[in-house]
Amino acid sequence: MPPITIPDESAMRSLGARLAQRLKAGDVVLLHGDLGAGKTTLVRGLVESIGFDGPVRSPTFNLVQTFPTEPPVMHADLYRVESYEGIGLEDYLDTHVCFIEWPDRAEGLISPFQCWQVRIDFAGDGRLVTVLEPETK
Ligand code: ADP
Ligand code: MG
Repeated sequence: MPPITIPDESAMRSLGARLAQRLKAGDVVLLHGDLGAGKTTLVRGLVESIGFDGPVRSPTFNLVQTFPTEPPVMHADLYRVESYEGIGLEDYLDTHVCFIEWPDRAEGLISPFQCWQVRIDFAGDGRLVTVLEPETK
């Protein structure tokens, strides 16, 4: 899929909603992009589109947030840690759609080839988003 131009926050939420149609429990999405790129906004759009209506915060301080949606969603933000170890992410891999921000810290958790990869780049006022499907599963 070619990179997608995302002009504003609402378009990023819509992209999350579109992704929700394609993701199922057991899928892992590695979210690449700098601070403020829109990684959490994408997850927010996705969980809202499948019926979650509570707050979706950046889990930078509590590291992991889960959503009792169908399918259930796990959202991890590893910005504050050096490694994924000791957080318990393993427990969600088979049962949730899993989103991982700062996935360079998740090295060893799962092969990146088994994961969806989403890269968000700043482009003027908007963003350029590349979505890659898993190469193997
Ligand atoms: P991250 O999780 O990558 O650190 P957030 O999703 O928490 O980023 O924040 C992204 C911020 O950028 C939000 O304040 C959002 O309103 C703003 N923003 C501006 N333009 C866009 C866009 N095109 N897509 C996503 N967010 C955008
Ligand atoms: Mg974030």
